[in-house]
Amino acid sequence: MARPVRNIFTIDVEDWFQVENYASVIERDRWPELELRVEANVDRLLALLAAKDVRATFFILGWVAERVPELVRRVARAGHEVASHGWSHRPIWNLTREQFAQEVRRSRELLCKLSGQDVTGYRAPTFSITRETLWALESLAAAGYRYDSSIFPVHHDRYGIPDAPLAIHRRDEGLWEVPLSVFQAGSLRLPVAGGGYLRLYPRALTWEFEAMSASSRGSCRPFRSPRPARSSPSSPGRRPHGIGRPPHMTEARRSGR
Ligand SMILES: [Zn+2]
Repeated sequence: MARPVRNIFTIDVEDWFQVENYASVIERDRWPELELRVEANVDRLLALLAAKDVRATFFILGWVAERVPELVRRVARAGHEVASHGWSHRPIWNLTREQFAQEVRRSRELLCKLSGQDVTGYRAPTFSITRETLWALESLAAAGYRYDSSIFPVHHDRYGIPDAPLAIHRRDEGLWEVPLSVFQAGSLRLPVAGGGYLRLYPRALTWEFEAMSASSRGSCRPFRSPRPARSSPSSPGRRPHGIGRPPHMTEARRSGR
């Protein structure tokens, strides 16, 4: 009998003004006065995931967790994995090693406290773990993280390590790496994970990605919270799930709590 396909569903939780594309037009010191939309958008996602009985991994920005702590508690209570998206949403190449170490420690401490989970996962803002910033993985391991999901194995003008492995793998730093999904045709690698790519590609390509999810490698699709893309149809055995499942929630689900 064929094994059921398992997909990983992940969401980067940040607000609309924090994306790197706006960095040159929305100054960071204006953030506190801008309208927060993240809470309502994440609540919509929580309702959608509950309706489809899907569990996901939420990579939550420390800046957001500090302002809407109840949101982190709601994500955790709903049985999803809480993970870290750093603190300030500055790409790693704009941080010193000390600043990065401080950000990932601080965000993990806050998320552990709010969620009651052992927060073990990290995704870098703007997928900013590249060949030049691989040192960040050592800092993550030192701060208590056990996996990273930041390396996009593609060519891109800002991010990506074009020849990085496509499958989940263990790295020398001791962390597991969960790379973002690509569609490979010969030597060509197309990025397919991320709300942006799913919104921009024609539907035929999305069908290809569906076919890819039936392969043994599966796919990893991050979505940003401000504009969740349409969910793919789910059916029993094909439901996506988070990267790491909080053990206490698995217990709770088993016992019907
Ligand atoms: Zn982000």
